[in-house]
Amino acid sequence: MVDTLTKSRKVVIIGTGLVGSSYAYALLNQGVANELVLIDVNREKAEGEARDLNHGMPFASPMKIRAGGYEECSNADLVVITAGANQKPGETRLDLVSKNAKIFKGIVTSVMEVGFKGIFLVATNPVDILSHVTLEVSGLPKERVIGSGTILDTARFRYLLSEHFEIDSRNVHAYIIGEHGDSELPVWSHVQIGGIPLSKYAKIDDVENNPEMTKIFENVRDAAYHIIERKGATYYGIGLGLMRLTKAILHNENSIVTVSTLLEGQYGLDNVYLGVPAIVNEYGIRQVVELELNETEKQKLHNSAGILKEMTDAALKALK
Ligand code: NAD
Repeated sequence: MVDTLTKSRKVVIIGTGLVGSSYAYALLNQGVANELVLIDVNREKAEGEARDLNHGMPFASPMKIRAGGYEECSNADLVVITAGANQKPGETRLDLVSKNAKIFKGIVTSVMEVGFKGIFLVATNPVDILSHVTLEVSGLPKERVIGSGTILDTARFRYLLSEHFEIDSRNVHAYIIGEHGDSELPVWSHVQIGGIPLSKYAKIDDVENNPEMTKIFENVRDAAYHIIERKGATYYGIGLGLMRLTKAILHNENSIVTVSTLLEGQYGLDNVYLGVPAIVNEYGIRQVVELELNETEKQKLHNSAGILKEMTDAALKALK
């Protein structure tokens, strides 16, 4: 007898705004999941998105897509939260904190109440803080609460370096770590192009202080502001980043991606969620990858962690 059983890969998206629907579109395009449920406080919106996505089915891989309620989370493999207010022009990600922490308490409680046993992936900003809020409210092990962290910033960094050096971005290895926001930092000491350290490849002695490289990093760090000024929000890049992470999880890829995770001693930091490279598979975070940072990078990472800790403490206090 032919064994027709396939492992169901069920994803629930909470928040079907610009980010949630761009992610749903990327999932459908790449056939990453075989069941997708859309939840939004605006049920009509989720319903409309599900219908629109379903009409593309003949051009994609088969997948069940529908709008639904929290009961759908009970047997989901992955719940992805993209709900909440987004960044307004001139507003920092940290400004959003108290607004979205309260929304999150309600959402995560509703997911856990139906017996959810899978992995949370958080994209709402400020993502590092809201990932920590999700960990606290859910009571799940830290491996199963992942923030999208600096996955998008890292992609932006690799893209801008690839443009500058006219090299395929897939051959540029580079990381942005720390807060997904203003205090993030580039790990210049580990940038490689085709396996060659950047300083050698580009024949630059002092990469960290090179004006062209500094400009590239500034454009990475400020990318969201530049896009929001022009079109009001960013969503395609993060939609693809979330799809990439979903693939790493549901397909048990053991991929190294920069995500927000709880540090417990790594990089000399404790009890803080921030973006670092980590190995991701079907159990969530398998392991944090600890890069050997130089003194400047260490100091910048600790500064970023300090900012996040203060904001996280305030957010967690506000929820009590
Ligand atoms: P949006 O306003 O288009 O969509 C938000 C959606 O959330 C809306 O459909 C709204 O109805 C829904 N929502 C609000 N409260 C809800 C609740 N309690 N339950 C269910 N649904 C609820 O916003 P957007 O542009 O999609 O952005 C969403 C979030 O993603 C923002 O916080 C934004 O800053 C963040 N974002 C993160 C990254 C990243 O790299 N992590 C990148 C871009 C945007």
